[in-house]
Amino acid sequence: MIDLPLPLAYLTPLVTVLVVYVYRLRRREASAAAALQSSVQSGLTDPPSLHPVVDSSICVGSGGCTRACPEGALGIIKGKAHLVHPTLCIGHGACAAACPVEAIKLVFGTERRGVDIPYVKPNFETSVDGIYIAGELGGMGLIRNAAQQGLQAIESVSRHRAPPGQLDVVIVGAGPAGLSATLAAIEKKLRFVTIEQEESLGGCVYHYPRNKIVATHPVTLAIIGKVKLGEISKESLLAFWAGVIQQAKVPIQFGQRMEKISRVDGGFVLKTANTEYQARSILLAIGRRGSPNKLGVPGEELAKVVYRLSDPEQYRGQHVLVVGGGNAAIEAAVTIAAEPDTHVTLSYRNESFGRVTESNRTQLQQAQAQGQLTLALRTQVAQIEPRHVSLDGDDGPLVIENDVVIVCAGGVLPTPMLIELGIGVETKYGTV
Ligand SMILES: Cc1cc2nc3c(=O)[nH]c(=O)nc-3n(C[C@H](O)[C@H](O)[C@H](O)COP(=O)(O)OP(=O)(O)OC[C@H]3O[C@@H](n4cnc5c(N)ncnc54)[C@H](O)[C@@H]3O)c2cc1C
Ligand code: SF4
Repeated sequence: MIDLPLPLAYLTPLVTVLVVYVYRLRRREASAAAALQSSVQSGLTDPPSLHPVVDSSICVGSGGCTRACPEGALGIIKGKAHLVHPTLCIGHGACAAACPVEAIKLVFGTERRGVDIPYVKPNFETSVDGIYIAGELGGMGLIRNAAQQGLQAIESVSRHRAPPGQLDVVIVGAGPAGLSATLAAIEKKLRFVTIEQEESLGGCVYHYPRNKIVATHPVTLAIIGKVKLGEISKESLLAFWAGVIQQAKVPIQFGQRMEKISRVDGGFVLKTANTEYQARSILLAIGRRGSPNKLGVPGEELAKVVYRLSDPEQYRGQHVLVVGGGNAAIEAAVTIAAEPDTHVTLSYRNESFGRVTESNRTQLQQAQAQGQLTLALRTQVAQIEPRHVSLDGDDGPLVIENDVVIVCAGGVLPTPMLIELGIGVETKYGTV
């Protein structure tokens, strides 16, 4: 064994630790820079709603925010924190809370892209008496916030009961806010109805990727009491809610979309496609994904036309047309194409895909190369029939065999309707 001089014996392990630290730091920074570059190249630079803005003159690059972010949306580049995956940010602010030097503030929208936030009073009433908003539509993300607000909004609603012949409240939406509000309405013995445009419970949560781990915070639900689920898979969370629904006999009208609200004496009339409800109050718990954009073509009313991908396995052995050019459309097409014996066509009106992630682009190319999927670029759906779909394209009309159409053409919030009703809405461009 060689005897090292005493200072060298101390220095060697120190230098080794330092070298490993610097190597790892550089590797993390390079990967964060590559992620940011890929987001910019793919045009995925706009966070959906509330998101962090880092003051680089204060940031010390501690990495507290990157470790705190459960979505992996932040990274450190040249010693400063950056939102490297803006579209992954769900706005719960764990990063801001973890920052040791308060370099992060949470804002809505960006300089280029405004986000409409309705004005909501502390009792959850909007600037129109009798119309309340709870959950993400009001600007605050997270399951716990939505559920808490649903409960509190119903406490406010219950102070103004309706006369006989009128409902106390219509609750719109069965995500965390609407579900919690519904439980509270049962507990308060209100006369109410809850409507949900989809056939599924859980709102946004229902559409998380399969097996996503959901970080939940303790929350109090009416009838059920305090719920502490911690980190739980999406499927287990939905199963928990399904159990709650059964236990509390929650009456939700699925497949009913709020189309219009009009004022009448002493309340409102809310219309869906086939029903109308008269109520003293309306609670909007509709989140921020909005209602799906429609194609507006003949045959779209057929039951085989859907607007979101649920279980891909159900499409095994079928002819599926996916319509759209964003990440949701590509993910739906690729996932279904991986099922045995499926014939998937992806129709998009443009010549190439713009705002999609590199990994989706690659997966699409692979599926196409393996013959699992047919791309129909520069085509638009002209007509949907029970066994076929007609596409209009540059090379003339194309008729393809079809069992299912999945339209992924984005969603639209009912902001014009809210404004028409007199609800104050502020468009925020990167402000609190
Ligand atoms: C990918 C992703 C991951 C997330 N991960 C987490 C997490 O780990 N932890 C966490 O706490 N939060 C997470 N969030 C945020 C959380 O899901 C939302 O903040 C929460 O679901 C908001 O609840 P909500 O009830 O306000 O709205 P939503 O969940 O969006 O529910 C709104 C409901 O209203 C319905 N609706 C809309 N318009 C109409 C209409 N016109 N008529 C009838 N019904 C209508 C919708 O169909 C929907 O079911 C995540 C979000 C995303 C996108
Ligand atoms: S707000 Fe939440 S999701 Fe967005 S960057 Fe911060 S910790 Fe991550």
